[in-house]
Amino acid sequence: SKVPPIILNNGVEMPQLGFGVWQVPDDEAEATVTTALEAGYRSIDTAAVYGNEEGTGKAIAASGVAREELFVTTKLWNSDQGYDATLRAFDTSLDKLGLDYVDLYLIHWPMPAKDSYVDTYKAFERIQADGRAKSIGVSNFLPEHLERLLSETSVIPAVNQIELHPHLQQRASREFHAEQGIATEAWSPLGQGKGLLEVPAIVAIARKHGRTPAQVVLRWHIQLGNVVIPKSVTPSRIKENIDVFGFALDPEDMAAISALNEDRRLGSDPATFNDV
Ligand code: NAD
Repeated sequence: SKVPPIILNNGVEMPQLGFGVWQVPDDEAEATVTTALEAGYRSIDTAAVYGNEEGTGKAIAASGVAREELFVTTKLWNSDQGYDATLRAFDTSLDKLGLDYVDLYLIHWPMPAKDSYVDTYKAFERIQADGRAKSIGVSNFLPEHLERLLSETSVIPAVNQIELHPHLQQRASREFHAEQGIATEAWSPLGQGKGLLEVPAIVAIARKHGRTPAQVVLRWHIQLGNVVIPKSVTPSRIKENIDVFGFALDPEDMAAISALNEDRRLGSDPATFNDV
């Protein structure tokens, strides 16, 4: 089943479902990303700090999939924020990936204490103008951080990639993104797989549709319009997670999942996370 695209605010198409590679060691990334490409994934989400851009790039090179059919995202790590450091870090990422361009480049965290995300984003604008990132955006930005970019820079971010799953539904951010034409991309879309996939309401909906809890949660995101990047290193789950375009949740299923919000983060709080 082919993954449908969403259209970003610059007219570029992005697959609504991709493959995340956080915590995949570099020497396993080639095999894991190869499995994902064979399963039909065309969008891959990595980051400099994941340490697996090389393994990811090897899988892309060996796949035989045409470059224009792929959508590759990487992210600038916190220690490289600032105009000049960003330009250097981007070169390193492209080298490691073995690519001439990425499809999407994201500022990994706003790091408000350093107060350099505006300068960093200006370097992103230059990288995009040079054609080396087709789209640019951010990750873990709160609406207040986006407001500053919107008032102090020229290119509206195409994407904000944020922690988002049924226990952390991020309604204020999703609404703000929709108003501004910024796509919402969900990280840890499965809530990292732990308790979320055993929640009775989700298990019941899965049973009703003859699907798995993971497929139900991904389908909930898809029907809300979120971009998702589930991660797995298990081939059967990699295949299962992309097979979510042949069924639909009913309005009562959507409502039951939307009732599970607890505003509970698994990851760091962008307002206070400033680690490098
Ligand atoms: P996820 O929600 O995708 O969960 C992944 C885990 O869920 C797996 O390790 C596995 O234990 C389990 N799982 C996966 N498929 C399953 C299935 N079909 N059935 C049962 N269990 C299953 O969590 P994630 O890896 O944290 O997030 C996905 C991607 O988001 C990452 O790989 C990364 O690319 C991105 N991410 C970005 C940031 C950021 O700051 N921008 C932070 C975290 C993650």
